[in-house]
Amino acid sequence: SYQHLEKMLEKIDGRGYKAYQELQGQYQWKDYILSIDYVQGDPFASPSRIRVILSEDKAGFPENLYDTFYKRKGVIDFLSRTVAQNIQKFYHRVGGSGKSGLLSIGHCGQEILDRNFVVIDKKHVEARLEVGLPAAGRRILGREAKKIFFEALPKITETSLFYKNISKEQLQKTVALVEDQHCIRQELEKRNLVAFIANGSILPRESGVSQRPLKIGAIPFQSPKEYEIALELPNYGTIKGMGIPEGVTLIVGGGFHGKSTLLEALELGVYDHKLGDGREYLITRENAVKIKAEDGRSVEKVNISPFINNLPMGQDTIRFSSENASGSTSQAANIIEALEIGTDLLLIDEDTSATNFMIRDGRMQQLVQKEKEPITPFIDKVRELYKEKGVSTILVIGGSGDYFEVADHVIMMDEYVPKDVTKQAKDIAKKNQNLRKIESISKEQENPPRVLLKTSFPKGKKGVKIKSKGLEHIVYNKMDVDLRNLEQLIDSNQTNALCFILYYIMETMVDDKKTLSEIVDQVYEEILKRGLDIVSPFKGHPGNMALPRKYEIAGMLNRFRSLKIK
Ligand code: ADP
Ligand code: MG
Repeated sequence: SYQHLEKMLEKIDGRGYKAYQELQGQYQWKDYILSIDYVQGDPFASPSRIRVILSEDKAGFPENLYDTFYKRKGVIDFLSRTVAQNIQKFYHRVGGSGKSGLLSIGHCGQEILDRNFVVIDKKHVEARLEVGLPAAGRRILGREAKKIFFEALPKITETSLFYKNISKEQLQKTVALVEDQHCIRQELEKRNLVAFIANGSILPRESGVSQRPLKIGAIPFQSPKEYEIALELPNYGTIKGMGIPEGVTLIVGGGFHGKSTLLEALELGVYDHKLGDGREYLITRENAVKIKAEDGRSVEKVNISPFINNLPMGQDTIRFSSENASGSTSQAANIIEALEIGTDLLLIDEDTSATNFMIRDGRMQQLVQKEKEPITPFIDKVRELYKEKGVSTILVIGGSGDYFEVADHVIMMDEYVPKDVTKQAKDIAKKNQNLRKIESISKEQENPPRVLLKTSFPKGKKGVKIKSKGLEHIVYNKMDVDLRNLEQLIDSNQTNALCFILYYIMETMVDDKKTLSEIVDQVYEEILKRGLDIVSPFKGHPGNMALPRKYEIAGMLNRFRSLKIK
C-alpha cells in the first residue's frame, strides 16, 4: 500500500541512489494502483517508468466513447494531452541532479496518432509516465520523491483520468473529430478521390521548425469551383472543399505561391490532425507516399529497371544495389519500394527531385541518344503507373510544361489560391508542337521477390542494442539508420516504435523465407490486432510509442545499411 511506499521513502532518504531499486512494485492508493515498473540506475540515466492504473468502474468512461479503433485513438490522444496539461498545472519540478524531478507523459504533437501513453478498455484505464527519481548528487532525496508520489501524482490522476473530472465537452469534440476524419477517409475511396481539402483549412505552418499553424497572414484554403464537393459528416454536418480526383495532377505556379506548402499538407494528410491545427479536415489516402531523391542512401536489390536500364559497366538494375545511390537511382528505388508496400498515391515535389529523373526534353533527346541514357524519365511512366497499377500522382512542377500532355488535372497556385488551369494547359500543349518523343518503354521484367535474410542483423559481442536518437535516427549497435528522408515520419514516438519493431522483426519474424513486404504486413497486422505494446520487450510500462505506417516500417528496413536480400 501507499503507507508502505511512504515508509520506504523515509527509510532510503539520504542513502545511495541504488536503494531506489527497492521501490519497484505496486502500491494501492484510494482508487488506483501506482506501479513502479522500472527504476533508473542513476539520476542521469533514462528516467524511471511508472503507471497509474484505475479500474474502469472507478474511472467511469462510457464505453461508446471508445468502441471503435479510431474513437479509442481519439480518447487516448485526448487523455494523454490532458495528463500533460495537468502535469504543467499541478507539478513544479523539484530540484536535484541529472533528471531529478522530471515528471512527464509522452509528447503529443499536431497529429492524433495511435499511441500507447494511455490505455483504456472495459476493465481499466492506465496512464504511463516517466519520472526522474530525485537525488542530490547520487544521494536519494526521499522527501522530494514523496512530493511527486503523494502530492503531484494523486492530483494529476484525479484531474485527468476520472471521467467525472475531465472536460466532457472537449473530449466529445475530439471523438467527434476523429469520427468525421474517419468518414472523410471512407468517402475518398467511394468517390475515387485521393485527397480532400476543406475550404477554410490553414495549410502554412508557423516556421520551418514548427508544425503549428501560421497565425498571422495565413490565407485560408479555397477550392476552385471545378473541384468543389460537399461531404456529409456525422458531426460537422455539410462540409465543402476540394476533392482531388485519382489520376495525374500537376500543381503549377510561380515560385513562392504556395505549391510546396500544399503538397506538404497533403503528405501529412495521411494522419489525423488535432483541433485547432488548421488541417483537421484535410485528408489524404492513408497510404500516400512522398517520393524524393535521396542521393547517398543505400539500396539493396531493388528492381529499378522500369526507370533505369543499361547502366555503365553492365550494372544490374533488376536487382540494383548500392551503398551510395545517385539522385535518380535513389528516387527510382523510393518509388519501387513504395509500390512494393502498396500505395495509391505518389507525392512528388520538383524541389526535392532529381531533374534528370523527372524530365528529358526534346533537345536533350536529340543530343544524347536513348541508348546512351539509362534513365526513362518519370514523365513517360506516370500515366502507365495510373493506368496499369492504379497509382495516382500529385506532382509539384513549376519548371516543365512537357508534363501538360500527361496530366489529367492542372492546378495553378496563384498567391496561395488554387485555380483550375487544365484547359489552358492542354490548349498550350496542343498549340505548341513538342519536339519531345515519348520514350518507348520496354516490357517490364518479372519482379523478383525480396526475401529478407537473417544476416541483415549482425550481433555484436554484447548482442544487439537498438536506440532511437530523436525523430530521424536509429542506432543499431554502432550503425546509424538515417530516416531524415522519411518525411512522413513525424513523431519521435513513432521512431521509438520503429526501434522496438525492428527488434521484434529480427527476433521473431525473419526466417530467410518471407519477403520484406510480407514481414511488414505481418507485423502491422499483429500490432493492429493486439496493440503496439506487443513489440516491446519490457514488462509493465512498455516505453512510449506511436504507431508508424507500414510504409515507414519498410522505409526503415530499406535504409538499414546491412540489409541483405536473397
Ligand atoms: P512554392 O513551393 O510555390 O515556391 P511555398 O509553398 O514554399 O511556395 O510557399 C512560400 C511561402 O509562402 C512559405 O513561406 C509559406 O509558408 C507561405 N505560404 C504558403 N501558403 C500560404 C498561405 N495559404 N497563406 C500564407 N502564407 C502561405
Ligand atoms: Mg516549392
